[in-house]
Amino acid sequence: MTADLPSTVHAESRDLVESVFQAVEGVAAAFPRARFLQRARERGNASELWQALVDAGLLAIGIPEERGGAGGGLTGNTAVMEALSRAGIPPLLYSLTSFSREAILKFGTEQQIQDHVLPTITGERKICFGVTEPEAGTNSFALRTIATPTPGGYRISGQKVFISGADEADHILLLARTAPPGERLSRTSGFGLFMVDLSLPGIHLNRLDIEWYAPENQFEVFFDEVEVPADALIGEDGMGFDYLLSSLNQERIVIAAWALGLGNYALEKAVSYAQVRAPFGTPIGANQAVQHPLALAKVEMEAARTMMYAGAAGYDSGTDAGHLANMAKLLGSRAALAAVEASIQTHGGSAFVYETDVITLWPMIRVLQIAPLNNESILNYISERMLGLPRS
Ligand SMILES: Cc1cc2nc3c(=O)[nH]c(=O)nc-3n(C[C@H](O)[C@H](O)[C@H](O)COP(=O)(O)OP(=O)(O)OC[C@H]3O[C@@H](n4cnc5c(N)ncnc54)[C@H](O)[C@@H]3O)c2cc1C
Repeated sequence: MTADLPSTVHAESRDLVESVFQAVEGVAAAFPRARFLQRARERGNASELWQALVDAGLLAIGIPEERGGAGGGLTGNTAVMEALSRAGIPPLLYSLTSFSREAILKFGTEQQIQDHVLPTITGERKICFGVTEPEAGTNSFALRTIATPTPGGYRISGQKVFISGADEADHILLLARTAPPGERLSRTSGFGLFMVDLSLPGIHLNRLDIEWYAPENQFEVFFDEVEVPADALIGEDGMGFDYLLSSLNQERIVIAAWALGLGNYALEKAVSYAQVRAPFGTPIGANQAVQHPLALAKVEMEAARTMMYAGAAGYDSGTDAGHLANMAKLLGSRAALAAVEASIQTHGGSAFVYETDVITLWPMIRVLQIAPLNNESILNYISERMLGLPRS
């Protein structure tokens, strides 16, 4: 599998991305799409996929070399997610773990990096991510989970929902209030970001029945007076929301990679099918009505991909890359959805047969329009931050 990169990708990143794509070939051989789908159908996990990532050294990418990783920055993370997704095996836990590590690398202590980030390289630690609550989806400011200071640390009570991989992860990166709403100095203050050991007493999981094809399950996670030590807090008390915001651009780019990889997978399947399916004697791919949606999806995905790698390079060079990250997530998720739609149309009735593995792409690509952040909120960002329109 070659990356076939846009010419705008810097020379120094090209070798990195190509080597990631080659390494992912081995991972896909060890854990192919068929097994990914089978595990998803059984509501099981993909632990061998994670082990294959460890064995290929791919979990070390994105952690700076001077801190014990393999370097590669966000460009490396993006390439890992894109290549896995192109192979039809995108691990949701990769996006969650790489994002959570970023927050700890930026704001955690050396000890927290030793304890939580480095063990992810060997697969000893998997991290899930807890922000969403039943009454606080897009509006995270409304979250109610509270961490009350105690002599030895904090006592956490509340509930999170839609927490992916909570059964596989050993820790959750949790956003909780540390000050009641009335006592906050600003909109984002009064929150803490915590690394919480999921085996602590008082934590209960309830699996949700989510209709999509991924070998990670989603859970309601209940916290009933969970005692956590003081060193569970990442950075300063009160700054959790700001930390989260400053790590979100990393997440948007990785989500774009996930969407675009899946869109490419769908497009390739459509092109192969259009070349052989011939109900009127000639392949349906000779009809422009079949070609054009596929061609349009190709162009739009390439445009989003160029923006995605430019955003990753910008982030790696020290800018926050907010504009590019938001635009890449928006364009990438939409273009990939168009590719999946075009693939369904091209496959006709066969698209709906499970074994064809086309309709199986649709729920995931549809979720990526909504989670982790809906595209309307991205348009809100672009309206306010890029166009200067009033806050809605
Ligand atoms: C499969 C899956 C996995 C997930 N994994 C995780 C996870 O691991 N951790 C975690 O914390 N969360 C996770 N989530 C939750 C996800 O982040 C939320 O679903 C998402 O943030 C949207 O919140 P909501 O569902 O409450 O939608 P709501 O906030 O209720 O919004 C509903 C709809 O209203 C519209 N809307 C909302 N706000 C605005 C606005 N300001 N402007 C314009 N339109 C708006 C959008 O169209 C949106 O889709 C997951 C969700 C799914 C489906």
